Amino acid sequence: MYVDSHCHLDFPELAENLPGILENMKRNQVGHALVVSVNMPQWPGLMEVVAPHSHLYASVGVHPDYEDTPEPTVEQLADMARHPKVVAIGETGLDYFRLSEPLEWQRERFRTHIRASRKSGLPLIIHTRSASEDTLRIMREEGADEFGGVMHCFTESWEVAQAAMEMNFYISLSGIVTFKKAVDLQDLATRIPLDRLLIETDSPFLAPVPYRGKTNDPSKVIHVAEKIAELRAVPVADVARQTTENFFSLFSKIKR
Ligand SMILES: [Zn+2]
Ligand SMILES: [Zn+2]
Repeated sequence: MYVDSHCHLDFPELAENLPGILENMKRNQVGHALVVSVNMPQWPGLMEVVAPHSHLYASVGVHPDYEDTPEPTVEQLADMARHPKVVAIGETGLDYFRLSEPLEWQRERFRTHIRASRKSGLPLIIHTRSASEDTLRIMREEGADEFGGVMHCFTESWEVAQAAMEMNFYISLSGIVTFKKAVDLQDLATRIPLDRLLIETDSPFLAPVPYRGKTNDPSKVIHVAEKIAELRAVPVADVARQTTENFFSLFSKIKR
């Protein structure tokens, strides 16, 4: 059984085809998926998507790429996190690739999420792009190691991965690991201890080979697992089993 640890099933291109996607997940033995929040206005819609399905879960948070969007408070996030379907805070973090300074608001928003994680006791889903130094610094300053989480869609260096793992974070690999040119990431996929690894689609984005350029969905997470297994020269069943176990130990609010 496989788990997609990070997807956006509530985005229109996926939500419109939900019955078919759930069917494909079943066929590919993708037993669970975490639907990750990107902003407050879209959150009620996200909850509507996950509510009827016992194998779908939610997070609550505001993505660093949304500049003109309602800013959440620590109390608000912690309060929303009490919903039984919510198992994580995020996605949050820093993205210096899409936007440029002044980005103090992004760093403040990130701190708010880490504090909400402390208040709610739920793990963090962290997005970091071209901002690893500040991401790690703020994680340290806010004591993120006390509750841990996941560095999602990881594309940074081995040193960054190590620093995150030392702070009790898992490393999640997306379909990027299947891309021909992603040699550094493929090397990293062989070095991360299997008990610190998660797999994800980040769908509808980043469809893995052989679906590159098409709309991604959680059923395609099997191709991420297959690539990691190939790189590590282990049976894909081992990657499936361990990443599933890791998912449930990190998102421990889920009752299996
Ligand atoms: Zn992200
Ligand atoms: Zn995402």
